Amino acid sequence: MTGTRVLVLNSGSSSLKYQLLDMRDSSRLAAGLVERIGEQTSRLKHTPMAAGGDAREADGPIADHDAALKAVAQELARDGLGLDSPDLAAIGHRVVHGGMFFTEPTVIDDAVIAEIERLIPVAPLHNPANLTGIRTARALRPDLPQVAVFDTAFHTTMPESAARYAIDPRIADRHRIRRYGFHGTSHAYVSRATAELLGKAPEDVNVIVLHLGNGASASAVRGGRCVDTSMGLTPLEGLVMGTRSGDLDPAVIFHLARVGGMSMDEIDTLLNKRSGLFGLCGDNDMREIRRRIDEGDEAAALAFDIYVHRLKKYIGAYYAVLGTVDAVAFTAGVGENAAPVREAAVAGLESLGLAVDPGRNAVRGDRPRIVSPDSARVAVAVVPTDEELEIATQTYALVGKNT
Ligand code: AMP
Repeated sequence: MTGTRVLVLNSGSSSLKYQLLDMRDSSRLAAGLVERIGEQTSRLKHTPMAAGGDAREADGPIADHDAALKAVAQELARDGLGLDSPDLAAIGHRVVHGGMFFTEPTVIDDAVIAEIERLIPVAPLHNPANLTGIRTARALRPDLPQVAVFDTAFHTTMPESAARYAIDPRIADRHRIRRYGFHGTSHAYVSRATAELLGKAPEDVNVIVLHLGNGASASAVRGGRCVDTSMGLTPLEGLVMGTRSGDLDPAVIFHLARVGGMSMDEIDTLLNKRSGLFGLCGDNDMREIRRRIDEGDEAAALAFDIYVHRLKKYIGAYYAVLGTVDAVAFTAGVGENAAPVREAAVAGLESLGLAVDPGRNAVRGDRPRIVSPDSARVAVAVVPTDEELEIATQTYALVGKNT
């Protein structure tokens, strides 16, 4: 392997996010996003970190992912970072669902693509989009190693007692129903970074990671290995999210179908796209919800309380799963920025050794930091996640090992 650069691609159904990193110092050379692929109003936003200068935006129709990646390649070439450069060592792809099969980052070949395809029934929204990105990138640079980094991989260490639902195992196995968990790249990165913040090896700490973005999930990590996580067969289970309900009695679904007369697709849309904070109060952005609460809005206040109540339940549950806890780490958009959520989530848990120091919790920053008082038994930490860096690191390590 001669190159030291890794391109990270996160391909959604109508978007393509990318970052180019130099693995000698993990620095970001360029990053950007193509949105609304396939529409007349596509937009490419490109930030040339290494070349300096302002972000460049280009509006105009981009027909498909192939055209999107070619447009990205052109932008990178303008910065002297073309994808045909020998400095490019590999492309790392985020793949949402790796099932039980992919427990590690994996170099992509035809068999790997076939397996990711086989998992489409359990990830109908995400895997097809991820595959489009993979196919497009392989067509552009067929000679270059491409690596799939799976959102589910970090969770494959969960014991069967946590991963299995209490249903007939023959039915579960036939339909591959189990808890897979998602956001694994973030949980892996943040649990390791939390250990580092505590000055300890990952093997020596137990961490509850709370990834609170628009999607949200919690995980219990014992000695660097995931032992439980809140998302399940799909990302719908667990915490209250921006637009997803998280946990509910499965009988709600029968009730909506039988009594409410809703179709399965309508219920799917309701629970995934029109529930959570948005369903409760009409806003899914925590900034807006906090603003409304400050103005005395009751629906926003109740949505916040329901969000925090669920969070607290998971902290308690994972505390019990782990037995001893060294740190609770908050990450992602809400976890990193919303001090009131952190404060409310641990309020009243002093007997578990959990508390925030109001002064520390109020300080903003983009570095990992502890926001609990020095006297607290358990550290409450804010640890910014970096899924792109984690994907690049895993990709580079794997490609380095294979050459
Ligand atoms: P993510 O999915 O990690 O990008 O997180 C996006 C979410 O983070 C948004 O929908 C907001 O709810 C939340 N968020 C971002 N910035 C802030 C902020 N400054 N304060 C509170 N919430 C924020």
